[in-house]
Amino acid sequence: MAWTATARYDVGVAPGSFALVQDLLNTLSAGKPRKDDLLAELDSARSWLDLALAEWSQAVDRDAPEIDLDEPGREQLLAVRDQLHVLIGGAQPTAELDGSVPVFDSADARLFVDADGLVRVEPSGTGWQRLVSLILIETLDAQRANQWRRLKACRNSRCGVTFFDRSKNNSGAWHDVRVCGNVANVRAHRARVRAEAP
Ligand SMILES: [Zn+2]
Repeated sequence: MAWTATARYDVGVAPGSFALVQDLLNTLSAGKPRKDDLLAELDSARSWLDLALAEWSQAVDRDAPEIDLDEPGREQLLAVRDQLHVLIGGAQPTAELDGSVPVFDSADARLFVDADGLVRVEPSGTGWQRLVSLILIETLDAQRANQWRRLKACRNSRCGVTFFDRSKNNSGAWHDVRVCGNVANVRAHRARVRAEAP
């Protein structure tokens, strides 16, 4: 078992169930050669979601919520992914979104007290909205655990892979220094040479 979308890019994986947020972000098309956008088709989006929820279930040792994704839901999810990407410092999406942008800045959730007296949060809603609820719960937990700021979009705007920065001072900028960092250094070097030319 693995977070299948993130595993395609061979990057640092976010801890525990927070990796669900990263996995959604990494359904995008990136890398060399370019991998498929897993949300491009309903079939691949559903397959990804089933695997991601199974992995999430294993991470939290609880049953995953049942989420049925339909075609309008897939389109909403694409827009949610784009907005999430901007939230973690990624570039604004260039593709025009089809239809209205979903209200991603709020979602319903259910609070309850479990048998051990602990307050728990459960996602609510149906379809893609239930998934967004779960994504926001994971984001809330990560922010409280001070891990949110370590989830980053690669600074190479043409790349966009999401990695979890495990460096001591949280200074990572590239999903892979050798791939995207070097390209940026070469570009900066060329720009300097041009600037210095008479
Ligand atoms: Zn990159």
